[in-house]
Amino acid sequence: MAYQPQVVDARVVSNNPKNGLFEIVVKLKDRTECRLMYDKEANGGAKVTHINRLYKEPCPICRKDFLCNCMSRFIDDISAQALAKTGTPE
Ligand SMILES: [Zn+2]
Repeated sequence: MAYQPQVVDARVVSNNPKNGLFEIVVKLKDRTECRLMYDKEANGGAKVTHINRLYKEPCPICRKDFLCNCMSRFIDDISAQALAKTGTPE
């Protein structure tokens, strides 16, 4: 079955109103944690630019416990769930 990330917790960990950059750390149901990096658009919307898995747990997809890019395939899904929980910071 295809991997389906499920965000159970999300929090804004940094926010710079001057340049519009902010970061959200999410916790997934399978205990994977990821950091999402955002850029704010002129219309006030948020555009996700990067996702990094935090290396607390092995990757749920490839099982590596170091750098891999699996989560980047789910960046839009994870980002949408994260923003639904945190909202876009001011
Ligand atoms: Zn992986």
